Amino acid sequence: MLQLFDTAKGGVVPFEPRERGKVSMYVCGPTVYGPPHLGHGRFSLVFDVLRRYLAWSGNDVTYVSNVTDIDDRIIERAQREDRDWRDITSRCEDVWYRAMDSLNVERPDRDPHATAYVEDMVGLIQRLIDHGVAYETADGVYFQSERVDDYGLLARQPLETLKAGARVEGSEEKRSPIDFALWKKAKPGEPTWPSPWGPGRPGWHTECVVMSLDLLGEGFDIHGGGQDLAFPHHENERAQAVADGRRFARYWLHNGFVEVEGTKMSKSLGNVSNLLDLVEQYDPRAYRLLVLGSHYRSPIDVTDDNLRAAERSLGRLDSFARRAAELGVAAEPDEEALERFRAAMDDDLDTPRATALLFDLVRRANALLADADAEAAAPLGVAALEIAGALGLELHSQGATVPEAILELARRRDEARAAKDWAGADALRDRITAAGYVVEDTPAGTDVRPA
Ligand SMILES: [Zn+2]
Repeated sequence: MLQLFDTAKGGVVPFEPRERGKVSMYVCGPTVYGPPHLGHGRFSLVFDVLRRYLAWSGNDVTYVSNVTDIDDRIIERAQREDRDWRDITSRCEDVWYRAMDSLNVERPDRDPHATAYVEDMVGLIQRLIDHGVAYETADGVYFQSERVDDYGLLARQPLETLKAGARVEGSEEKRSPIDFALWKKAKPGEPTWPSPWGPGRPGWHTECVVMSLDLLGEGFDIHGGGQDLAFPHHENERAQAVADGRRFARYWLHNGFVEVEGTKMSKSLGNVSNLLDLVEQYDPRAYRLLVLGSHYRSPIDVTDDNLRAAERSLGRLDSFARRAAELGVAAEPDEEALERFRAAMDDDLDTPRATALLFDLVRRANALLADADAEAAAPLGVAALEIAGALGLELHSQGATVPEAILELARRRDEARAAKDWAGADALRDRITAAGYVVEDTPAGTDVRPA
């Protein structure tokens, strides 16, 4: 049975969906004002893997991820560049989906836009005022966080600590530093929507509550996002739902940070942290493999070295996929291998273990093929291909192939190495290289591809 770390409970718990065989997921999507960065790529990949695994396990998954197309940063950029804000949001959204497509992240079933939900948000804000948990000031409407008993649940911090650490922003009329804006009254020149409190726009925390409950219903299963969203964004979403008497997300999942070359990622690092540059400069699958190689709650370090290493690993998987396609490998997948895959993934998505299993299966299948035991290799190979698919790793089974004569040299080199005949192994390497192929040593043996 699948176990997941639930931020609200502070531990790993069994995952039981609201309705057997059906899983509803809401993952906070992009604010469309600039290009996606590596952190966006990571959360998208993490939740794509979870979604695929749930579907592979036989669930009917509904995946909703919003597009925040109202935001201070959008307005600032529009004013700075003297452009229509809608021009910025629509272009940035196109760029977002192009980047996600190249990462092979499945598109959401629904991608609600904040601008389409303003009326519903105004309705919620009015109810919160009626419930006595929100109040109007000169510059907007604020939520009184202390009115929610367990405020701080997702921050995993007591109220007093949150209050002491809160940045002072927004109105001086705020009753507490942790109160947050539900509605922002418009300043001249800003895009506006009508409301009982005058023209303005909703705050970010309100959109996700309204859209998730509208599209997935009360008590939906999973609410996810990057670790930086747990507080205040998710805390504030949840507080509104609680105050409105609605059952909200049943499980809260958060993924870890991205570091770039050992430094916590920030926009100031420039193009290294730009996802578009990454998918242009590297095989986009390398980022997925890198993300899979770390537990989703741990930080990952993105460096040129580990992206290149991931590309080489993909080369091994691809050459196996080609070999399997050439041999027409067909069999039922090895059940024990799939069982081990399930066990790893059910253990709070232990993708490093699942990925290690994948490479181990390829290594074993290659070894059996080298021994001309295609019958024994087939179930392992088919299991490997199935696991790769379940993790969203598309393998390239087409493309340049390596002639049998060269593969034979590679096999003889593996034998020489196994017998510690280093001189013989080197001589075979030179023959393969001279024939125009690149030789790489892998845990699965010699890998050869056209130079
Ligand atoms: Zn959100």
